[in-house]
Amino acid sequence: MAKRIRVAVAGAAGRMGREVVRAVLEADDLEIVAAVDHVLTGADAGVVAGAGACGVIISESLDRALACADVLVDFTVPTSAMANLRAALEAGVSPVVGTTGLTETDLAEARALSGQVGVAAMVVPNFAIGAVLMMTFAAQAARHLPDVEIVELHHERKLDAPSGTAMLTARRVAAARRQDAAPSLVPAGAEERTAGARGAEVEGIRIHSVRLPGLVAHQEVILGGVGQTLTIRHDSTDRRGFMPGVLLAVRVVRGMEGLCIGLEPALGLAPV
Ligand code: NAD
Repeated sequence: MAKRIRVAVAGAAGRMGREVVRAVLEADDLEIVAAVDHVLTGADAGVVAGAGACGVIISESLDRALACADVLVDFTVPTSAMANLRAALEAGVSPVVGTTGLTETDLAEARALSGQVGVAAMVVPNFAIGAVLMMTFAAQAARHLPDVEIVELHHERKLDAPSGTAMLTARRVAAARRQDAAPSLVPAGAEERTAGARGAEVEGIRIHSVRLPGLVAHQEVILGGVGQTLTIRHDSTDRRGFMPGVLLAVRVVRGMEGLCIGLEPALGLAPV
């Protein structure tokens, strides 16, 4: 049997980290070797994840985790994720970063360091394969139906608006529209009677952010043409939906070159 990929999880006591621990424990080709967090230290990571004891104890020591891992999966906070990514690359461990909020400057530094030490890394803003496909399909469709608006809907605890996925979708749609300059049918300059009525504008694309209890994470991309609309919708209803994407990244990251952003290359889709 091929050697199993040794996985360390940073943020192992968090909501996403627990799911990752459980998913890795269930995968025959992967092995959980370390769990790092500042909370629930001393507890068995498998028990915390609701999967039963696995013998890996949650610890604050990233160094010890990196000494025995091939891949570090990071679901922490933006202020920790860059330091973890840097430490992993310097230790020869491939980071797979799910933590959102890294800046363009962070990504440039990660790209440079990854090239310098010759260790591949992935930063993935959205691990839900359906959401990645939604963005790809929206960009394809926008070449033919250039009038596009995005409605993103999230739970009431989400702090940022618009969502990172909505921003990325807008940028991809805008890039696709630039390739084929089909004319917009929406007259420019219509006045808003109340500020914000037409949503935020990102690269010429309107984004409407809805925050309500009862929602999880949802997005609609609505494309309009004369006498027709096309709606592409994705719904995340459970954190487990991110796990096939996380496991895919863990399996492929060491075969990548340098820094890879997004799951697209791993899915055989055009890179972002
Ligand atoms: P959470 O608050 O439940 O968990 C974060 C955990 O990280 C906490 O247990 C915290 O103690 C721990 N932590 C903080 N700093 C640390 C450090 N230096 N080392 C080790 N552990 C540390 O948050 P969550 O809901 O699990 O989300 C985590 C991140 O993942 C957020 O940035 C969120 O936006 C992102 N996220 C990304 C995706 C995606 O598809 N890429 C999906 C969902 C969430």
